Amino acid sequence: MRVDPDGPVPAELALFGEAPGFEEQQEGRGFVGKSGQHLWAMMRRFTGLNRHDFYVSNLIKDGLPKNRDPKPHEISAALPEFLDELERVRPRIVVTAGAFATRALLGDVPMANVHGIPHEANVGGQEFIVHPIYHPAAGLHNKGFLAAFAFDLGRLDSLLRGDLRPWAPSGLDARTSWLSRDAVRLCESLEAPVVALDTEGWVDLPRMVNFSPDGKHGFVIRTDDAAGLDWFRRWLKKRVVAMHGGIYDLPILRVLNVQFAEYHDTQVLGYHDILRTGSGVLEAESQNLGTLAYRESNLILGELSDCPGVDLASRVIPYNDQTMHYAGMDPIATYRLFGVYADRGLLEYQPYQIDMGQIALVQQMVENGLPVDTDATLDYYADVLGKIEDTTTELRQMAARFGNRDFNPGSHPQVREIITRKIGLRIRKRTKGGQASTNEKALADHKANPFVKRLQDYRELDKLRGTYLRPLLAEVS
Ligand code: URA
Repeated sequence: MRVDPDGPVPAELALFGEAPGFEEQQEGRGFVGKSGQHLWAMMRRFTGLNRHDFYVSNLIKDGLPKNRDPKPHEISAALPEFLDELERVRPRIVVTAGAFATRALLGDVPMANVHGIPHEANVGGQEFIVHPIYHPAAGLHNKGFLAAFAFDLGRLDSLLRGDLRPWAPSGLDARTSWLSRDAVRLCESLEAPVVALDTEGWVDLPRMVNFSPDGKHGFVIRTDDAAGLDWFRRWLKKRVVAMHGGIYDLPILRVLNVQFAEYHDTQVLGYHDILRTGSGVLEAESQNLGTLAYRESNLILGELSDCPGVDLASRVIPYNDQTMHYAGMDPIATYRLFGVYADRGLLEYQPYQIDMGQIALVQQMVENGLPVDTDATLDYYADVLGKIEDTTTELRQMAARFGNRDFNPGSHPQVREIITRKIGLRIRKRTKGGQASTNEKALADHKANPFVKRLQDYRELDKLRGTYLRPLLAEVS
């Protein structure tokens, strides 16, 4: 049955849902059933506004059988009336509840990208702000959506108070290209203390290494460009790297022998940002680079699988302008995200400090049916095991020079013997039993010593294996 809109005309605020439910059809008014009651209770709590402050309508005016999603032809049939309403009501802000009303105004966008972000819109010459929110019904069934819904209404309040500016595509220029002589010259002229880095391809079939030295330029090196890779290895070696989900890239970079001084991960930083803002489970789902780039840097990224000639199932990534542009934009986005998280003071979180928190995130991903890349996790596990082995071998060789031919880096007495007696370092911190301490803090003053440095590497890797990778593997398998 049809349910007509109601509320003031003209109105500063309009709210559009999807289609009336059962109770709405009984009463003849939108958003009066369970989800409506939830919507208005939360609206009051977060913005102080009530139902009568809004023009209330639905994209589809008739109820749909069993509350099913509207079909494309039903949406196109509803659009003319929807646009007429906007012209008649002349709202300053249009709140769209759920994906269907949102997409009617913003195009084919994922809700995860746009929810809680006010967008400037111009529809048929009429300008207004679209503020997409998750549909209140989603929050009735899922705690994560409830948190995200609350977040969206909080953001509406900020918009109404003038504390939030509407989204507009980034005005910052972003240029991408294959690595060239000019690119090399530019990179060498920049200080570039931080370089955002990314890869395309697979461990046994790496295709591209992509980087941004400044958040404006994205350069792409083909893995068949031996001279380019060679230059890059030399140029990168002493720099700090930012990656997004480096768990995927590290094994590929290792195969290509690309090394760097220090590494931050914007996915991990994003995760800590979520913990900090407490905006909920669904925000964790949005640790995807495309979503974060959109939400934090007003940047739209493409999909590699949409580029011509790409067939990921058959492991085909051709070298063409579209794949180059896609690949070059990724590190630009990562570079900018890194800046956002640095400004928020999150850089103290190191990639290996994700430990138990990241495991909870993977559990949520599994529960929400999001894909977890088992192969990449296994590759990474193998990579860490390889590094532990290398580090242990190096430590054993050093220990042998001090007369210990059966050194165990996990043994504190053995470590103490070498550090205090053989190397002769002075340790100020003492254990409860009065012996020289060999814990991380006690050794912090002696980081310059090669044995201590290697020992700390070993401990970090071992912690990574024990607290993060083992439980993570248990979760994904
Ligand atoms: N859901 C909607 O999208 N609209 C209503 O009016 C009620 C529930």
